Amino acid sequence: MAIKKHPKPPLPMADQQYPEFESIKMETKKLIASEATNNFFVTLKYIEQGFGSQMNTAYHHRLQAAFYDILASKATTQAMKGLCLGKGVHSARRSIELAPESIEFAYFHAYMLYRRAYKAKCYNEALQECNRALAIPNPSDPEEDWLAKDDEQEVTEQTEERIGKVKDLLHLLIIDCNKEKFIRRWNTLDADEKNSFIELSVENIKSYFSSLGNELANKVITDALSYIRDHYQDSKYWLCCFCDKRFDGFGEHSEHVLTDHPLSPTHRSLCSSLEVDCSWTEIIEKGKWKPVDTSAAIKRLESEWKVQDSRSESSRLVEDDPKKWPESDDYARTKNLKSIHNKLRNLLHNKALLAVHVNKVTQYAMNKLHGLLRGSPLLELGLDQTHLCICLLEASQLDEILKYLEQITKFYSHISKGKNKASIPKPKYPVGIEVYDDTLYVLFPEESLSLHGGSAPTGDAFSTWIFSGISSEDSLEKWTSVRNERKSYWEEVLGKIRTFLRQKNEELSKIQSDNTCKDILSEDVTQQRTLPMVPTDVSDMEIVREADSGLMLKPQVDNHDNHDLKFREDDAWFMQFSEYNRDWEHNLKSHAESDYKEIMYPLVKSYIRIFSLWVVSPRKLGGLDEVGNVLSVSGSFLVILAKFLAQFQSM
Ligand SMILES: [Zn+2]
Repeated sequence: MAIKKHPKPPLPMADQQYPEFESIKMETKKLIASEATNNFFVTLKYIEQGFGSQMNTAYHHRLQAAFYDILASKATTQAMKGLCLGKGVHSARRSIELAPESIEFAYFHAYMLYRRAYKAKCYNEALQECNRALAIPNPSDPEEDWLAKDDEQEVTEQTEERIGKVKDLLHLLIIDCNKEKFIRRWNTLDADEKNSFIELSVENIKSYFSSLGNELANKVITDALSYIRDHYQDSKYWLCCFCDKRFDGFGEHSEHVLTDHPLSPTHRSLCSSLEVDCSWTEIIEKGKWKPVDTSAAIKRLESEWKVQDSRSESSRLVEDDPKKWPESDDYARTKNLKSIHNKLRNLLHNKALLAVHVNKVTQYAMNKLHGLLRGSPLLELGLDQTHLCICLLEASQLDEILKYLEQITKFYSHISKGKNKASIPKPKYPVGIEVYDDTLYVLFPEESLSLHGGSAPTGDAFSTWIFSGISSEDSLEKWTSVRNERKSYWEEVLGKIRTFLRQKNEELSKIQSDNTCKDILSEDVTQQRTLPMVPTDVSDMEIVREADSGLMLKPQVDNHDNHDLKFREDDAWFMQFSEYNRDWEHNLKSHAESDYKEIMYPLVKSYIRIFSLWVVSPRKLGGLDEVGNVLSVSGSFLVILAKFLAQFQSM
């Protein structure tokens, strides 16, 4: 038998009208707390007679019932327990007879009936009392009915809130009653009957929702069923917020958004300046970063070429061939190259390394090599395509690259400081749903399967699943409103992003048209002004625009050698743009990702619940009303359904 989980109702609080109740309460509590078995009957006698014959009030019976309940949980035999629960139900009934308008007493009466129930039918009495309590037109204030004070919490201020609290308890009790009934019924089913609850006909599910006349539910369930079936049980998809197209991967989705709904004419080309291409990614991840002995390499190459005369062969660039690229044992170069490699790897892993950075470094290296190896055949090999151009540099030049990379790191930590890209927690689905051809399977985890039920779960696991979560109506409402919110969010944000990009673009052309970009990380500059931040949200846009005014170029202070490798305004610009772009993508992703399971589960559960006619619960919890709706519509499926339901009715 399942463990009773329903929260224990509190003891009634002290009564102002009958102060002597307080001492009776204390005395009874003391008696109940003492463990001796013979106290059981002493306590029972005290509960019955200690109140005095003059106090035959509703409160008196309510308090008595509460003590019978406590005593029942202390009882050491089933007989004692049954005796106490029987007396408890009797007292609770007396209290509602005397105060039929009290929702709190009605709740306690229902609770006692639930406690006493031992077979499916008994729970109907409790359910009836719950429904009566919920239907009381003007329930009396539970505080006046002496609803107990919680030890930690103050009694809620407003009458409405107090009534609301009791109503919540009643709804919980209804679910518990339904679960208990379901478990008892479930345990009498054979394996085939159990399977009919977890292997559902797709056609019947569709007919059910179309018979409800709810177009939205019908459309959503039809879409979801076919999507899951066609995508091999994958229920995730990405919805374009701009045109409602559905994609089964985020890659396809962003590709579509960038192509069909471009943010600005130059957005795509700007994006291409950001991502380090895969050949460089591989070189940074796996390449051998050792200094090359330049003169030995030239000698070897020249002698080889005299023999083969095949200079155009690209295989000459095989980097790890030690014969072709003799290593140098120069300590400073080895050390610097190692540091450069580590820095690049770190930047790459943080996505702080951009294509523009790599280009700058290779351009710098090639410029230096043209000076070092003037007229050498080495320069014809396309050294800038790999890190060889860096491995050929001298220690002081490597030092320059290292400084540049350090500045990138510094700037990156500045712009990414305090950013928290926490993703929205995803709901977990312990129970699986899979759709094959015409059948939907409800899959329970192994530990919840019953021993002889095949793939059917235990009654406890199954009832916990079907009676948990929000109703199908609420789920549909949420499903629709989330999608509408996303749409308006994007409509609002799109305009702002476009303005932002236009401003950024103008800024970049200004920076790039200036031949001698300022070294923005030189100390005097960083002290003068704060660097602009990157927007993460619509509300941040304003901040960006304010901060942006600081990014406008001022007259140049220094004249730099064009071949110098310095961290400049354009580096900063691209890094900010990259961060911004990533945030944009992150936002887009979280606002585009959808999972049909979110809506499938509540809908399928509501469908399964209609099979249990004994589910007597208000509409909000998806009970009889739903069945009533179904039965009022004609159709062959419904005839079958009605027959099916009739079988259960006769239980
Ligand atoms: Zn679209």
